[in-house]
Amino acid sequence: MREELEELCKEILNCKRCSLYKTKTNYVPGEGNPESKIMFIGEAPGGEEDKQGRPFVGKAGKYLTETIKNKLGLDRKDVYITNILKCRPPNNRDPNEEEIKACSIWLEKQLEIIKPDIIVTLGRYSTKWIFEYFGLKFTSIMKVRGNIYIAKKWGKEVKVIPTLHPAAVLYHNQWKNLFEEDFDLIKKVLENKDKKSILDYFSKI
Ligand code: URA
Repeated sequence: MREELEELCKEILNCKRCSLYKTKTNYVPGEGNPESKIMFIGEAPGGEEDKQGRPFVGKAGKYLTETIKNKLGLDRKDVYITNILKCRPPNNRDPNEEEIKACSIWLEKQLEIIKPDIIVTLGRYSTKWIFEYFGLKFTSIMKVRGNIYIAKKWGKEVKVIPTLHPAAVLYHNQWKNLFEEDFDLIKKVLENKDKKSILDYFSKI
């Protein structure tokens, strides 16, 4: 699995599927433990990520890393962290449909290799993409965050837990509680202490 992921990263580092490769400094394929049960998916690299070639290493990334540590008791090297886009959009503009379509084949391949049990989507873009990928109905990030969605994939039940984007949480301080509550839920799921029945999950879909 590690080798497969390394091979895939090499392919990503040569990608020219959209024009963002021309303006980026470094590709940001993703990093962490390929055996992790849990995968975090963000939107696109920002300035610091572009400089370092690593996901979530800027201000929002530090907050995410701290929350993973404080709430889940995990180091970021224990989990897998990636984004939909592997190159930074100029001036951190939002990703466009074409870029998402071109780049998401890499995320699909990462998912196929890692086959996580739990997928945490960070913000609207990755949540919408994952919902479409699993055939779930996406409404709005505020409506779906903090819930567990079950998808049948890879011969098992995969739990999708959408939450807010850490950059948005830093911007809207009043959302910190929501973000941290969502991490309490993730912790319960990681420990298999979420008491809800499958029927409850389906009623949310
Ligand atoms: N925002 C993201 O969505 N991803 C990163 O890697 C950094 C900031």
